[in-house]
Amino acid sequence: MSGPHQTAAGDLPRYHNYIGGHSVPPASANYMETENPTFGTAWASIPRSDCDDIDRAVDAAKTAFPAWSALKPSQRGRLLYDFARVVEDNAERLAEIEVRDNGKLIAEMHAQMHYIAEWFRYYGGMADKLEGAVLPTDKSNMLNFTRYEPLGVIGMITPWNSPLLLLTWKLAPALAAGNVAVIKPSEFTSASTLEFMQLFAKSGFPAGVVNAVSGLGLEAGKPLVDHPDVAKIAFTGSDLSGQKIYEAAARNIKHVTLELGGKSPNIVFADANIDAAINGVISGIFAAGGQTCIAGSRLLLQRSLHDEFMERLVAVAGDAKIGNPMEKDTNMGPVATRPQCAKVLDYINVAKADGANCVFGGGRYEGPGATSDMFVWPTIFTGVSNDMRIAREEVFGPVLAVIPFDDEEEAYAIANDSAYGLGAGLWTSDIRKAIDGSARLEAGTVWVNTYRALSYTSPFGGYKRSGIGREGGMEALKEYLQTKSVWICTDSAVDNPFIMR
Ligand code: NAD
Repeated sequence: MSGPHQTAAGDLPRYHNYIGGHSVPPASANYMETENPTFGTAWASIPRSDCDDIDRAVDAAKTAFPAWSALKPSQRGRLLYDFARVVEDNAERLAEIEVRDNGKLIAEMHAQMHYIAEWFRYYGGMADKLEGAVLPTDKSNMLNFTRYEPLGVIGMITPWNSPLLLLTWKLAPALAAGNVAVIKPSEFTSASTLEFMQLFAKSGFPAGVVNAVSGLGLEAGKPLVDHPDVAKIAFTGSDLSGQKIYEAAARNIKHVTLELGGKSPNIVFADANIDAAINGVISGIFAAGGQTCIAGSRLLLQRSLHDEFMERLVAVAGDAKIGNPMEKDTNMGPVATRPQCAKVLDYINVAKADGANCVFGGGRYEGPGATSDMFVWPTIFTGVSNDMRIAREEVFGPVLAVIPFDDEEEAYAIANDSAYGLGAGLWTSDIRKAIDGSARLEAGTVWVNTYRALSYTSPFGGYKRSGIGREGGMEALKEYLQTKSVWICTDSAVDNPFIMR
């Protein structure tokens, strides 16, 4: 796989955009630095693109669309299937770039790179299984059938926390369905996406089917959303950006999929397997340093269990090894970006000022293993009430808010009293509670006696402010298709033109 372009001695290596099958410098010749949070230093530069680059990329995609959508579905499927192998062959390199740009653990990124190959296999296999139906109607002289057709150019806008995984959730179903793509990755983590594009060239995808342009949200993302030739925006990011994109897309009646933030409740009942629940709570909030949309950032704990559970939870959090994410035994790396680090530290101060009780962590981590000023302690607050900001707003960092409850009614009332509805966890050994709770929780995904389980076969998405649409499974394919209903008259009678048939 080819990496960034080398420049004059002393300058950072440079990435280019990927447009129409070529590596292309930005029209303005402007670049910006991309930082490695583990060391707090810039390691490469990426194009700071604008509307000229977006126009070129959309043109390239639009030109590629007729031939790509007319390709035999089985051929599209084969290309996606073969691409999965190319991803696996390059998994090590891709994982290293992800860690360099966002500070996530190398072990998790390795697993993620191998797993995204499965998305391409799954949707590759579906490309030739998009069946319409012949519909029974009440009109004996008519044949009515449905066909599914691609939308056209899809604008894909991604965040910094799992750049290639979240891109794959969009790209694999969109391409299988016969669409073409223009991708705008996060300005903090564009390198992996720009290298990923080279793999499409390598595995024989026609030029222009996928294109990627890096840049800032307002300079490159917004022109993509506003472009009249873009049929749909598939977005993952914060709810505030998602709202702006939804409003802008409405002006052109564009389709949207919005995968937004969360403030997910992880509910532990006194009858739960306590060891498993502690593990699930830790995984929900401290894995990936809490920088996941599905972070179980509100622990709802049955009061009778509270003190014993908290003592053990704090002990496990205290054992987490903080340090360089490239080392295999590290449990928590740095916060991915400088603004995000400042935001997490701010929220810790807000929680303290609002009267929450900090029982572990509570600030910047400067102990052994801290190689930059972007590490934060795993932090736990008890005595939180659900109306505090720490319980209502998404922190997107390793900060857990613990809220006690007495019974099921109170647990679900607190859990559902949130603007968000992305995920929810439930820990109990009572099957009745498991089934009842999974129905009562207002969330797109409910995990019972587990947390953070995801698969390409299963739909994922949000209720309420957590988003619109689903990624994963059969449902994701429908997000990239439009349905056409075809009526064919089978008799030669000429009807009264003024009466509906
Ligand atoms: P963000 O909203 O700041 O940015 C996301 C992307 O949108 C970036 O590429 C950015 O450049 C672009 N962007 C921003 N404003 C834009 C605009 N007006 N028009 C077009 N593009 C614009 O989010 P982030 O900080 O990168 O990511 C963290 C957020 O993502 C969190 O809220 C997290 O919960 C959410 N997230 C959601 C999921 C999910 O599947 N539901 C997954 C991961 C992350």
